[in-house]
Amino acid sequence: CSAAARSYNITLLPGDGIGPEVVAVAKDVLSFAGALEGVELRFQEKLVGGSALDATGVPLPDETLDEAKGSDAVLLGAIGGYKWDTNEKHLKPETGLLQLRAGLGVFANLRPAAVLPQLVDASTLKKEVAEGVDIMVVRELTGGIYFGKPRGFGTNDKGDDIGFNTEVYSASEIDRIARVAFEVARKRRGKLCSVDKANVLEASMLWRKKVTALASEFPDIELSHMYVDNAAMQLVRNPKQFDTIVTNNIFGDILSDEASMITGSIGMLPSASVGESGPGLFEPIHGSAPDIAGQDKANPLATILSAAMLLRYGLGEENAARRIEAAVTETLNHGFRTGDIYSPGTTLVGCKRMGEEVLKTVESLK
Ligand code: ATP
Ligand code: MG
Repeated sequence: CSAAARSYNITLLPGDGIGPEVVAVAKDVLSFAGALEGVELRFQEKLVGGSALDATGVPLPDETLDEAKGSDAVLLGAIGGYKWDTNEKHLKPETGLLQLRAGLGVFANLRPAAVLPQLVDASTLKKEVAEGVDIMVVRELTGGIYFGKPRGFGTNDKGDDIGFNTEVYSASEIDRIARVAFEVARKRRGKLCSVDKANVLEASMLWRKKVTALASEFPDIELSHMYVDNAAMQLVRNPKQFDTIVTNNIFGDILSDEASMITGSIGMLPSASVGESGPGLFEPIHGSAPDIAGQDKANPLATILSAAMLLRYGLGEENAARRIEAAVTETLNHGFRTGDIYSPGTTLVGCKRMGEEVLKTVESLK
């Protein structure tokens, strides 16, 4: 299609803490990379989290959700901070994020964990094991044991107090998350590992059956299966064997955190949450980092890489996504580091400067 024809509306939700700092930087990079590829991006900024609570009394104002739902993609910074620590659910900034996910109907959470050659020493694993790791965990986000019913507290027939939860997956829930994962694997190295506990759990038996059945629609993808206990072990023993992993809500919660720890760089890790249609939600995995907020110390690269995921998985703008990823790599090659990834011999910079350095390279690379 013609260059000028591609234009999109992006909702920006800076949120709290370092959120506004990293989103401001990522917005400039996103805008510039888009423009270089003939993509026009229009931005609308809205309140969410603690800043929304302060201004409106709720963590997700209707106006924010309406804007997000009507846009093509949502870029979020971070939510929360000491200021809003409370046990009252409706006054929790984090409730705003849960409501936003539910409102957008995003059921697939994509979490890449790549060990960049420039940051291999930050890995929690030995260099030989960490080198070249590039994994994507696709986690089912809206089903499984976190939502299954019945759940609650009770008493068993011996009079002992019990707590109970239920793992439930329907065939259609499995089918839609598996489809996302096959498509993601297709955009990567063509390998998909489905992680379950099909030797013990019925929900996992159905999971494995449905994923296997779908494989015939994706003959170009190499599908394998692994039990979750083995997967947890293999992730630290030999993480290079994995490309894309697809798994249920609870296993994905655990394995995506495990995979991200391999990289050792929380300020570098992006994420995406997508649904069947409608806008996806793109955000760094780190929190609001109140300890460094407002000091121009935050690493904006996780949010910049989230913007690249927004282009790839949210808008289908692969070229602009690649530009951003290449620019991040090149900026690290030039030796620029924020405090969280600093090592002797590199150049310590702040959030804004890091953004400027990425912008400089966005133009020259692809
Ligand atoms: P959450 O808000 O999700 O509960 P958390 O409180 O566990 O998150 P973060 O807010 O992510 O954790 O912060 C953990 C530590 O990592 C803090 O010391 C913070 O300063 C640091 N950190 C997090 N994100 C960044 C970043 N983008 N750049 C630099 N340091 C960061
Ligand atoms: Mg926190």
